[in-house]
Order: sequence, then structure tokens, then C-alpha cells
Amino acid sequence: MTRCFRLVPVLALLCVFGFSQSSTSTKFGPGFNIDTIDKSVDPCVDFYEYACGNWLKAAEIPPDQAQWVSFVELHERNMDVMRGILEKAAAGGAGRNAIDQKIGDMYGSCMDESAVNSKGIAALKPELDRIDAIKDKQGLIDAIARVHLIGPNPLFNFYSASDLHNADQVIANIDQGGLTAPDRDYYLKDDEKTKAVRQHFVDYMTEVFNQVSKDGGASGGDGAQNAETVLRIETALAKAEMDRTSRRDPKNRDHKMSRADAASLASNFYLDRYFHGVNAPNFSQLNVGNPDFFKQVNAVLESESLDSLKTYVKWHLLNASAPWLSEPYVQANFKMQQALTGQKEMQARWKRCVNLVDRQLGEALGQRFVDVAFPPESKARMLKMVDALEKSLAEDIQNLSWMSEDTKKQALVKLHAIQNKIGYPDVWRDYSSVEIKQGDLLGNVQRANEFESKRQIAKIDKPLDRKEWGMTPPTVNAYYSPNFNEIVFPAGILQPPFFDPKLDNAVNFGGIGLVIGHELTHGFDDQGRKFDPQGNLHDWWTKQDGEEFEKRASCISNEYSNFVSVDDLTLNGKLTLGENTADNGGARVSLMALQQLSPDGKQGQKIDGYTPEQRFFLGFGRVWCQKRRDEDSRVRVLTDPHSPGKYRVNGVVQNMPEFQKAWGCKAGQAMVSDNACHVW
Ligand SMILES: [Zn+2]
Repeated sequence: MTRCFRLVPVLALLCVFGFSQSSTSTKFGPGFNIDTIDKSVDPCVDFYEYACGNWLKAAEIPPDQAQWVSFVELHERNMDVMRGILEKAAAGGAGRNAIDQKIGDMYGSCMDESAVNSKGIAALKPELDRIDAIKDKQGLIDAIARVHLIGPNPLFNFYSASDLHNADQVIANIDQGGLTAPDRDYYLKDDEKTKAVRQHFVDYMTEVFNQVSKDGGASGGDGAQNAETVLRIETALAKAEMDRTSRRDPKNRDHKMSRADAASLASNFYLDRYFHGVNAPNFSQLNVGNPDFFKQVNAVLESESLDSLKTYVKWHLLNASAPWLSEPYVQANFKMQQALTGQKEMQARWKRCVNLVDRQLGEALGQRFVDVAFPPESKARMLKMVDALEKSLAEDIQNLSWMSEDTKKQALVKLHAIQNKIGYPDVWRDYSSVEIKQGDLLGNVQRANEFESKRQIAKIDKPLDRKEWGMTPPTVNAYYSPNFNEIVFPAGILQPPFFDPKLDNAVNFGGIGLVIGHELTHGFDDQGRKFDPQGNLHDWWTKQDGEEFEKRASCISNEYSNFVSVDDLTLNGKLTLGENTADNGGARVSLMALQQLSPDGKQGQKIDGYTPEQRFFLGFGRVWCQKRRDEDSRVRVLTDPHSPGKYRVNGVVQNMPEFQKAWGCKAGQAMVSDNACHVW
């Protein structure tokens, strides 16, 4: 459901969007177009409705989507490009090079639906049998290690990441995990909507286990009873999970300890046996993201029977494998997804297969993608814009009235240390050790997972590889990483409406310029500000400046907490604080950069009747024109640190005197806040 890197949780990446999913549905296309404007609306009353009104009237969410917004439109276009590459690679035959063999045969094995259907559960049977054969709880640990390598992560997460206090060094991490639903609240809340989703979850599990029995797999057992077991175990784990808002504070995840101390948190778990099982190096220290969670793991292992625990581990394998098994599993999995997203139809198989190759062999497919879809001129123009944005953020920091000279000096050191990556990696990942076979979809998925797991584990106790990328080149997104202290823009996002080389600077600064400013600002948001220029968790603020920051941040938090997402559900201002701060700061510094870059920016000529400042805000609005299904909105209020499009636009402009000046707004109008928030 959510798109997540295996073993490595994405919490370290602060990106522009929640999760990317992958039909055309509007008459306007993805680029900037003044026809999307609804001139019957007063821009000072509802700027989002003004900028997007005609788009909203014309747009329909395609049946295979949870929402329709610029980055999904772009992703669809990138998918067509990837499909062309993959179909050619799949048909290529013996003369293909190594990359085309891998991506082509991965795609081909996924598209060979009849081969997949004829196998039924057989493709997964060896793994299920292995779990059925376990004799004791120590054997269960070996099975969990095996499952973590080839697929999902039952019980907890194990991964490698920068040492919070020495970013240049990668260390082992264990952390909370092992849930199927997207958030712990789905297990803990008892309102009607949550209960309905939970029932879907139980039905999904029941259906899958019963199907396994029907397919002749002895391990299916009684579906309803198994579902009850899994729900009970996951509820116990959910109770010990730290909530998302608490996890925003890196201090709450900072518990470095010796391997022996970590093992003693869960004496029933035999952590050493697990580390041996995944063939981890013999490290002596690790970070435990949530120590209390492991006490709960210990209790679950003690109180649950071996058979129940086996059922739980088998469930995680079944759930992760379902999209790549025969039709009944695919359908059952989609029904669950539908309950969460409101999607009317499943995506076409080719789209699911393109996404699979992007996810599993992303830097192999990505090499082909940038060859056909990323002109070198785009990189040069982006570098100029990044430079302009860094200069204006520096100026913005220097002019802050609330920050002392000492902290400003430190902030500028950090800003100047931010590295940038644009388009694609300098060094491509080497997939030569991954075996990809024709006609073996699930085997390919498991081997690619195992390659990635081992790659992550091999990094433990080694220096950080600062050349590595956390997103694939076709991804329509961008991120700031606090440990790397870098901003990253994959080739996929450098297209209209974010970036259009044919359009004026004003529109591009409202699009990709604002995204650059957004990512830079993440280095100084409620989370990012706690890391120093080298990426270490280290407080470089004076006490008073820290308090001044918190005061201003809580203004943003309060502002967004009042916005209604769907029905009576309001946004969680604390969960979305970092992203909202980044949107506000990004808009301000990008507009400053535009005005400084183009000498005629301040009194520039109108295009289509709009001044450069007005076109800046229209370009910004266009990026966030969005339609979203109610089901999807509900999940996102709980899980997505980003606000919905309407508030990403209106929440920002009402804080900006620059906006009010550009559009001639007056006090008392809705887009003129009487309590304007201003952090950066
Ligand atoms: Zn962000």
C-alpha cells in the first residue's frame, strides 16, 4: 500500500509528497496553463479555487487512482516511457546486454499472467513449508531472519543507517514494525470508520488463508481463526509502537546501546541468533529506535503459542507476496487496498509491473530512463536555480529579526554545507549478482529483495556512502536527508508543471523553485534543525533562539490544525509541521530568488495579463491542483506528513504579505491572515 524501501524505513527522507502511486483524465495536461484559472473566484478569497477552479471542474480521478494531482499525472507519463523501455528489453532475446536482460525478464515474468496463475500458491509453498516445519521458538527466529531477507518484515525492522551522532559511520538499527495496516491507530481506535477498515483487514486475511487451503497448501488452516490470531498479535505490537508525531523528534529514536543490552530487552527473541541468521557483521553496538517496543516483542513471544506465531509470520509472507501470486490473491489484496484508498479499479497489469521493476531494479531501469527522458540542459538550469535559492535562503536567514548573530552564523554554515544531487546518480548500483529468470515472478521478487537486504546489511560499520540515492531516477518527488545534509531531485520531477524550460522564470520559480526552497528549508524545520552541517544530531542553537523557533513553529502548527481534510477530520498540525514550514519557507525564498534573478522581476512585463509575481503564485497553485478520494484522505490524515493540495496553497499564501501585495488583497479577506505565521 505505502511505498517503502525494504529494510530501510523512509523516515530519514523528508520529501515533497506522501507516497507516489501511479490514465489521463484532464483536458489540460500536466503543464502550466492559464485556462485552469477560474476567474469567477476572487483570488483574495480562495486562491486555490482561483488557480485550480477550471482544472477541478474538468478533472476526474481515474478509476485506478486514489487521487489525481500533478505528480501522479507526471508519474503516469513516466510510466509510459518506462513501459516502452521494458517491452523492448523483454522482447530483446539473446543479444541483450546484462541490464536489459534483468529489467526485461523481470517485467516479462510479471506480465506472464498465465504462468503466474497456473502456479497458484506453489511459488510460495517452499517458504510456507519451511515455517510449518519449525519445531521450537528458536527455530522461529531463523525463519524470521529468512523472511526478512526475502520479503516482508514481521515483528520488527532491522536496517542500517547513519549513526545519529557520527553521520559518516553507518550502524545497525532495530526498530518497531511488524504491522500490516498503515498505522497503529487502525488497531487501537474504535470509531466506526476505523472499525470498518479493521473488518476489511480481517476479511482479507480470512480470504487469503482459505484460498491457501483451497489451493492444497496445508498451511492455510482455518482462515477466520488465523485472521483472529494475526489481529491479536499485531494489536499487541501496535500498543507498544511510538506514534508518528513522537517519532518526528529524532531524540525519541536515539538509543544507541551494546548488542548485549539490546538482546536483554527481549530475552525470548535471541537477537544474536537473528543477526547470525541474516548474516550480519559482528557489530558491537546498534541503535534501538524504540526500546519499549522490544519489551513488548518479548512479551508477545512468551504469551503466544508457537503455532500462532507461525501463522503470524506466514501472514506477512502471504500479504507481501499476494500481488505477485495467482488471481484470487491479487484480487483479495486489491480489495484491502480499495478499502484504504477508495480506488474503483485495479491498475492495469502493465502498470503494476512497471512499478515493480522501478522499485526492485530502479537504478538499472533508471539508466535507460534518463537516456531517453532527461536532457542534459535540464541539469544545468536546475543547478542555476539551486544556486539562486541557496543565496536567497542565506539572505532570508541574515535578515531574521528573531535569531541571534551566533545562531545565524551556524545556520549559514549548515546551509553552505548542503550538497545537491540532480537527475541521476554518478555511480549506478551494480545488480550483476541478482539472478532474474523468465517465468519466475515470485522468485525474481524474492531474489531482488534479498539483494537489497544484503546490500543494506553490508553497510553496517562502514563509512557512509555519500554518493548513494534514496529515490530512483524516474520518481516524481524530491527529498532532503538530514544525515547526508543534502537535497535530491530525481529526473522524474524535472518536468511540467514543476519545471518547463519553455516557460518564464516566474512560473518555474513557483514550481520547481519552490520545491528547491522547500527541501532546503527542511534542513531547518522542527526535525532538520536538530542536525548539524555534518548530519549529526547536535544542538547548534542558543536556548533563546530555539524557543523563538518553537514559538513561530507552533503558529504554523495551530494554523494547519484548523484545516478540515474530510468530513470532520482536521489535519494534525504537529505531524505536518515540518512539511508546512518547508512550504511556507520555500515560497518566501523562491519568490525572493525570482525577484533577484530577473532584473525585471519586480516591474516585469505582464504575460497573459499577469505580473511575474502573480505568475509565480499561479505556477505554485497549479502544482497542487488535486482531487482525492475520501477514503484516501482519511488514511493520509493519520499517516501523511504533507497537507492536502488546497492547504499547501492557501495555508501558505495567507501568511504572505508578498501575495497580498501581488493580488491587491485587503485586510479581512480570507487570504489575509490576521495572525500570519512566519518562520523562515
Ligand atoms: Zn518536504
